[in-house]
Amino acid sequence: MISHKELFLRNNAQTSTNPNLLEVDHAEGMYLYDKNGKSYMDLVSGFAVSNIGHRNPKVLDAIRGQLDKYLHLTVYGEFVQSPMVLFAEKLISVLPGQLDNVYFVNSGTEATEGALKLAKRYTGRSGIISCHHAYHGSTHGALSVMGNEYYKQKYRPLLPDVRFITFGREEDLGMITTQTACVIMETVQGEAGIRVASADYMQKLRAKCTATGTLLILDEIQAAFGRTGKLFAFEHYDIVPDILLLAKALGGGMPIGAFIANREVMGALKENPILGHITTFGGHPVSSVAGLASLEVILEEKLIDGVAAKEELFRELLVHPAIREIRGKGLMLSLQLDSFEQVENVSKRCAVDGVIIDWFLHCETALRIAPPLIITEEEIRKACAVILKALDN
Ligand code: PLP
Repeated sequence: MISHKELFLRNNAQTSTNPNLLEVDHAEGMYLYDKNGKSYMDLVSGFAVSNIGHRNPKVLDAIRGQLDKYLHLTVYGEFVQSPMVLFAEKLISVLPGQLDNVYFVNSGTEATEGALKLAKRYTGRSGIISCHHAYHGSTHGALSVMGNEYYKQKYRPLLPDVRFITFGREEDLGMITTQTACVIMETVQGEAGIRVASADYMQKLRAKCTATGTLLILDEIQAAFGRTGKLFAFEHYDIVPDILLLAKALGGGMPIGAFIANREVMGALKENPILGHITTFGGHPVSSVAGLASLEVILEEKLIDGVAAKEELFRELLVHPAIREIRGKGLMLSLQLDSFEQVENVSKRCAVDGVIIDWFLHCETALRIAPPLIITEEEIRKACAVILKALDN
């Protein structure tokens, strides 16, 4: 009989010549299990999605409850669907007052698209500023603001009027002018290999955007929901974006994204012309109840409280001559090595020993450490021992 691996390679579109090919049977909490019952500790969280671990019982209950009511009913923005109403209300309650209007979409890249359109609509300007090494998604608009020519070159022409600055470099902020509709930036750069800017820089960025009437879009698709040790990463800097982008962990394992702004800014999508952004499935009821349950778990179980100590423990244990640097905040960490070959070998050896780690789109010489926030001290010690052993080899 033909294996699922062979069918996957034959029938499912492939995006690289060397996919991981782990065949997961089921997942629970911190672990993935293959067909033979071997467990793998997940240090990647499905790329910053499973912040509360896999298949949290409260999320599963919420999903089951919604299955008995309704699935898709109609396009976004027409019927009053309680799951999306209650989820928006909860999100607004944990955000600063300026961020009081939520547009739910289906993914991170769609949140980026919606935000870029909103910024152009609201300001009447076309200039967009993004960062070198930025990643905001893979659709055409998001690709236009991606800070890596390698992935963009075959898709030109892309959006015009996009300029790039260096993340964290104060001198570049002068490029933000009264012609600029928006600056789009990851609060903590993810696919660049985890880069953190200073609070001083982030505050100057905020001030420059305010002074020029430019909307500041902070992409926290990877960094939100406790990953950096705060519910939202911008809280580290005492600033508030004009538009916040969320996805990944937003759905507690289900697909959903959002761009969030204040009511006045978001109002630009409403008339002249109407339907400024359209989505069929945005804010899907099952994803919305899962997202709400996941946020409640993060808050009620105080999952963020332990994040700083867990970061410290990783930093304390991961000492090895091959590790050049550990970058990041909270449980959004990268281990800088010397080569991609090293990174690939270490990842493969860790998988053999039952630990899943990975690398970054724009930084292939660093290892990604982004476990669910529920990881225990004992699990951190075990994972670090596996990583150190792999580095020794
Ligand atoms: N923005 C950031 C910072 C991301 O890390 C990602 C995905 O990795 C995206 C946007 C795109 O999200 P999605 O894959 O859901 O389109």
